[in-house]
Parts: sequence; C-alpha cells; structure tokens
Amino acid sequence: MSGSHPHSSTVVERHLSKQQEAMADTEFGAWIDGELRTGGPKRGVQDPVIGCSIVDVPQSDSASVDAAVDAAWEAFEREWEATDARDRSARLFEWAEVLKDHTEELTLLECLDCGKPISQARGEVEGAIDTLEFYASVCRAQRGSEIPGGKNLHLYTTQEPYGVVGGIVPWNYPLWAAAWKLGPALAAGNVVVLKPASDTPLSTVRAAQLSEGVLPDGVLNVLPGSGSSVGQAIAEHDDVRKVSFTGSTDVGSGVMRAAAGRVAPVTLELGGKSPFIVFPDADVQKVVDAVADGIFYSTGEICDAFSRAIVHESIADEFTERFVEKAESYVLGDPLDEETTMGPLTSQSQFETVTEYIETGKQEAELLCGGGTPDDPELADGWYVEPTVFGSVTNQMTVGSEEIFGPVQTIQTFADYEEAIELANDTRYGLAAGIGTERTSLVHQTADDLHAGLVYVNEYGPILPDAPYGGFKQSGFGKDLGIEALEHYQRTKSVYVNLDDPEL
Ligand code: NAD
Repeated sequence: MSGSHPHSSTVVERHLSKQQEAMADTEFGAWIDGELRTGGPKRGVQDPVIGCSIVDVPQSDSASVDAAVDAAWEAFEREWEATDARDRSARLFEWAEVLKDHTEELTLLECLDCGKPISQARGEVEGAIDTLEFYASVCRAQRGSEIPGGKNLHLYTTQEPYGVVGGIVPWNYPLWAAAWKLGPALAAGNVVVLKPASDTPLSTVRAAQLSEGVLPDGVLNVLPGSGSSVGQAIAEHDDVRKVSFTGSTDVGSGVMRAAAGRVAPVTLELGGKSPFIVFPDADVQKVVDAVADGIFYSTGEICDAFSRAIVHESIADEFTERFVEKAESYVLGDPLDEETTMGPLTSQSQFETVTEYIETGKQEAELLCGGGTPDDPELADGWYVEPTVFGSVTNQMTVGSEEIFGPVQTIQTFADYEEAIELANDTRYGLAAGIGTERTSLVHQTADDLHAGLVYVNEYGPILPDAPYGGFKQSGFGKDLGIEALEHYQRTKSVYVNLDDPEL
C-alpha cells in the first residue's frame, strides 16, 4: 500500500484507513495447490476513488499456469474425481458458510478495488454465496437417464466432469462472476484454474484462501495476472479441457480460437448493447426506474446494461423528462457510504474510454444531461463521470451501436411495433433486452421477437442462480447459471450393456 497520497481530504483519509484495515491480516498472490504464492513481479491494485494503489499483488505468468494445471490434475486424480455429488455438495455448503462469516471483509475488498457502492458490493458477495449454495443443492438432484434399447440391452447415460477447467472473468462483478464459474464447475466434479481480472483480484484471492481446509488442495486455483500472459496461457493450455470466459467479444473470440486448436469446448459470456422497448401503454415511472437501474447500476459497468431506450413517440417527451430527472437524482459519492448510489468507474483506462465515448456522443447526438465529471472536490481524485443521457440517437451512431460500459444512456423513438423490434435487434449483440408494457399479450409476442438471451419485463434483474444466463449472437453462447451451467461442465457418456447371455 502506498500509505500516502498527494491530496488530503475526508475521503482520502477514510480510504487510506480502510485500505489499511482490509490489508491488515491478508496477503495477496496466487492461490495454487492450497497455498499462497507470492513470488514474481508485482502490480498495484488501484483504488478508483482516490487513484492510488491499495496493495501490490504478485502477478502470475504462464509458468504459474503450468504449475496450477499440474496441481489441479493431481488433486482431481488423487481425490476429487472419486467424490460423489453428496461430498461435493457438503464441501460447497461448508465453503459458503465460511464466506458468510467473512461477508463484510469480502464486501470491503470488492468496494475498494471496484469502486462499487458498498450496498451493491454486499449484494454481489451475497449473490456469489447464493450461487455456490444453489449448485451445492442442485448437483445432488441430477439424474442420468435410461434409454429403452430392447429386451437384451441395458442402455443408459452418465454425466462426467472434464477434469481441469479454466475460468477467466472480468472486473465488473469480480467475486460474483467467479462464483458463476466455480459453483457449477466444482459441483459437477471438475477442478478449476481461475484468472480474475488484474484490476480486481482481491475478493477472489481472499475467497480462495477461505477455502483452505474445506476444498482439498489443488481443487481451486486462482491466478491474478494479465490477460495476455495468464489468460492466454489458460486458453491455450493442452491440459485445460474446457474454458469458461466472461469478458469482451473481441477477447472472447480469441479465447475460442485458442481452445479450438485442441478442440476444447468453451462457454462465452460476452458484451452487450441491450435495448429496452417502452410501449405507449407502459407505466412510465416504473419503466424509467427499471431502465435507469439497468444502465446506472454499477456505474453502467454491466454487461446486460439497458444502454438503449427505444421509446414510443407518443410518450417520448414524458419518458425523457422523467429519465433525465432520475439520472440527475443519483448520488455520486464515496462507495463506502451506504447512501452512495453511484461510484467511480473501476479503472483509469475505463474512465478514458467512457469520457471519449461521451465526447463522441456530444458531436453526434443531443446531450440531455451529464456529460462531465462531478464538481465535488472530495471526488476530484476519483474516476467519476456523471450519469449521462443522449437524445436523438440512431443505431448508426457510435454511441448508439458500441458497448460503452459506463453510465451513458441513449434514447431513440419508434412509431410502430415492427420498427421497435427492428431497432432493438439491429445490433451484433444479443445479451439482454427489456420490455415496458402493462399488456401481457404484448410481453409474450415481444419476448418471442427479441433476439436476446435474457428478457426483463418492467424491471432490471434480479439475476438468480436458478435461471440460465447468457447471450445470443456475438454476446456469446453456452450458459452461466441455472441447471444448464452444471450440464455445461459435464460430458455425457452412453453405456450399452449387452444382456444377451448365451447360457440362458
Ligand atoms: P476483457 O475481455 O478485456 O477481459 C476479460 C478477462 O479476460 C480479464 O480477466 C482479462 O485479463 C482476460 N484477458 C484479456 N486478454 C486476454 C487474452 N488474450 N486471453 C485470455 N484472457 C484475456 O473484458 P473486461 O474489460 O475485463 O470486461 C468488460 C467486458 O466484459 C464487457 O464487454 C462486458 O460486456 C463483458 N462482460 C460480459 C458479461 C456476461 O455475462 N455476458 C459479464 C461481465 C462482463
């Protein structure tokens, strides 16, 4: 930790003290084979509120990936492969209990390196634990199948794990995203080598340490490091039998190419530019709240952000006025404050990307609110941008077509149903879509017509582990969450047993 800061303010003092508290009893590094490895060059993990390093974390490299994969196979063959669903379920429940006891610690870590408002960070840590418990439950309810193959044939299927699975996750909901991979992969009987994003490794490394004595050594390995070394090495490793990736579409397609060389299956959860269609009969305030939540939650750093409001022309003025009012009501502040509803962007590079998009938007569309950084001097060192809304947007504009991954909303209008669907589907992505209407029949028709893997009606979220989550088109394939994800971490085997006994 730097321990010093060029500026002094209440927020700076508070963060330096909270950083000290969070780092007091914990060391960070790679978690491989049940122990912390602290060798290698270090990279500072930044606090996006005050723009200084929280802690220097040793970075893994491709040699660490080799070591982790070897340790993981050893653990698989030594004991994890022989476990049954009941054993794995018990261990996952036990790990979840330990994590529950550390919820506030994990929440603080998530809050500090992501800049996520503490209430959201807490919700996501709880979501991660809930995900582990979901898979601890459902893995025991899995069934094989018996297939009628004739009188003298016993034909059945079994589900088997792959062995070593690689996971690569982004920085926008670190522990929750990790749990989306770890829950189903471990419950299905695999062992895992997981890479958190280099900007936000803290909560995941800590959660791995908290699995000590619960998960056998080598079953869970977490390697902080860069995408180009650690991520790429996981994607390319001959002995990683499946790769599950969450991140951008460009990097995801590279991961798919790397895995294709050895015909390893991949699950890809990628980017989005999700539309929300607001029909003329919508409850406008309800929908304003839903769309705002969908774009401003987590400072817009969400893959399924409702970044495109497509509003019927008859209610566009009312929607826009209320939406701008709602955007301006967000409380930008210190994420450690329970009252803060929007924190900074997670990294300086994301701040630069988002501000560049905002400048482009000012050239091509109509700026309705925001578009700058907050005036509050307490926030001057942080990577904050104001909630920003653009009107008169088209799908041809940069801000209307590219994923911004920040608190930037675009509003466009439509005249009839066909136009709404055409505008909504006119994107390379297909992660999520929203519908604002009070008419049930319209909900079903529209949900059918939208090319997206998730459809929310009159709301944003919740995201429950119970339901499959994932996109269409260039938003990826395969599913995180739901019983489907458990099945994605397993291979099906058909067994033909010939019962034709010549003695009878
Ligand atoms: P990113 O693609 O840059 O990075 C994602 C992860 O991949 C990180 O851990 C990164 O270090 C690693 N990586 C980078 N280069 C790599 C390489 N060559 N080989 C292997 N791994 C590599 O994405 P990001 O900026 O961290 O996250 C934002 C993106 O993630 C957005 O596009 C967002 O929509 C998407 N996302 C999707 C979902 C979803 O569920 N669909 C969820 C969260 C984020």
